[in-house]
Amino acid sequence: MSEKENTIRLASIPGDGIGTEVIRSALEYLSPKAASFDVNIDVEELDWGADKWLREGVGIPKGKLERLQKEKHAIFFGAVGDPRIPDMAHGREILLGLRKRLDLYANVRPIQILKPELSPLKNAQNIDMVIIRENTEGIYVGEGTHESEGTINERACDISVNTYMGVERIIRYAFELAKKRRGHVTLVDKNNAMRFGGSLWQRTFKEVAGDFANVETAHLYADVACMRLVDDPQRFDVIVTDNLFGDILSDIGASIMGSLGLAASANINPGKLSLFEPVHGSAPDIVGQGIANPLAAVMTGAMLFDELGYLELATSIRKDAMGAVRKGLVTPDLGGELKTEAVIEELVSHI
Ligand code: ATP
Repeated sequence: MSEKENTIRLASIPGDGIGTEVIRSALEYLSPKAASFDVNIDVEELDWGADKWLREGVGIPKGKLERLQKEKHAIFFGAVGDPRIPDMAHGREILLGLRKRLDLYANVRPIQILKPELSPLKNAQNIDMVIIRENTEGIYVGEGTHESEGTINERACDISVNTYMGVERIIRYAFELAKKRRGHVTLVDKNNAMRFGGSLWQRTFKEVAGDFANVETAHLYADVACMRLVDDPQRFDVIVTDNLFGDILSDIGASIMGSLGLAASANINPGKLSLFEPVHGSAPDIVGQGIANPLAAVMTGAMLFDELGYLELATSIRKDAMGAVRKGLVTPDLGGELKTEAVIEELVSHI
């Protein structure tokens, strides 16, 4: 369903905690905003989350995902996490289930500075990069062995799985993205220590680079990449890396932006049903207070429109969000005094 239509059929899954607050609020702005670009958003809200899990023992209802794959253009997701379910069983079933069953192999995290003063970095001007994290393999596959537990011979092995197919497609995704941006891809790995997977990533990176003559490349070990993100972040355009290093680097990235309340992300299977979610979680500490920052969800909406081909709409949304941040019309996490709804009203006033 990648053809451009004037109606976007959206499944919204607000989930738990502030997920429900930011997704519903963001849509109060995104829907009229899209309408002003002649795009109609048809939202079906799904109640997947902690309440349903506790009530019915169901994460993803049977047959529902297949229906979404047929009917929807995108999933707009809030957060899962609830103090009543400390082991996050429902989160695993819902979010990890969606990632796996929809084969959302590219985790995309843009790192942009909306206002340099918010960043903990001294020199935060002109930071604009995207971290592409492989989302289906690596250390997160949960394979390994655990022998002689509790004895002095205990041996615990976690296996990082890397397949040629998995590595090739994520590296190609990064190059395709770089082609549309500033034309530079940095491969981050640890091939000096992780020899087998490392050599597969290195070899495949060179092979794919051969198809993109106008894209420049660089390579950094993961430890060095962490340092460069802090002392020379402007050097990065697109970073591609495995599941574990992507997890770590993108949290440094979110921190560089100055607040979790600004960080957007997408889980993508190109041309197929994909999932768009703010980076932050359910934040039980501030739930119900009306102070959740809706801008990460709004910026996530911009990613969604970008992916569906509505580039001007996405750019305009980013401009509105940046305007609110620059003027300080923001929630307390960014040093402002506004409530969630007031931030949305400010954005709506620019439509
Ligand atoms: P979860 O278990 O669902 O990941 P968490 O509270 O452990 O939830 P996050 O929700 O990601 O983790 O956030 C950590 C803290 O950052 C929160 O406790 C909250 O104070 C703050 N925070 C996160 N997102 C926002 C937001 N959108 N607006 C304001 N503050 C936020």
